[in-house]
Amino acid sequence: MDSDAADVHAGLRSLGADAREVRAILLTHWHNDHAAGAHSIQALTNASVYYHRADEPYFTGRGGATGARRWVSDLIPEWGVLVLAKGLLGESTPRAVSATQFVRDGDVLLDDFVVVETPGHTAGHVSYFYKPDQALFAGDALAVIGGRVRFMARPVTLDLPTARASMEKILALQPQIVCPGHREPLVIGAAAACGLMRDHIAAGGHWPLLG
Ligand SMILES: [Zn+2]
Ligand SMILES: [Zn+2]
Repeated sequence: MDSDAADVHAGLRSLGADAREVRAILLTHWHNDHAAGAHSIQALTNASVYYHRADEPYFTGRGGATGARRWVSDLIPEWGVLVLAKGLLGESTPRAVSATQFVRDGDVLLDDFVVVETPGHTAGHVSYFYKPDQALFAGDALAVIGGRVRFMARPVTLDLPTARASMEKILALQPQIVCPGHREPLVIGAAAACGLMRDHIAAGGHWPLLG
């Protein structure tokens, strides 16, 4: 995600929508590739911003890096996968965004979005379950690759056992649509794909290095 939210604007345009119609910004976790444009959209729209308190120091920059790490982070351009590297090095989103409300497990936002705490990838990672369509917005709590539900890569997972438990938790929701933070959403055969991954985890299945 770009700090100026250019990609969000492009996405909204493709839906025939305008950023000024945005009422709420639901953030899964602080990583740059998911949150860098939040400040820009919030400033434009005055939309409410939701995230978990445990990620707050990174969203606001208060827990961010200083000195050499910050200097290197500031030098990295916002381009492709470098966007994530930039955030990880700086340990914060480049433009701070404050929460209107910290979310907790079981909160229901905007009548239809259930907050599901899914720590592991980051300490404050949450997923959002959109009840009307049984659609899971999983952020980086899981990956979808080639129509299959997979683990995220191990090197970008802060706490592996916790992340594994979080995956079990969201797969148990039996979503009909899975929207991961990366790659394409899973809209056909999602229930079966989630079932396969649940079985894998329940059997103590291996977590490959790259997910
Ligand atoms: Zn992430
Ligand atoms: Zn990500």
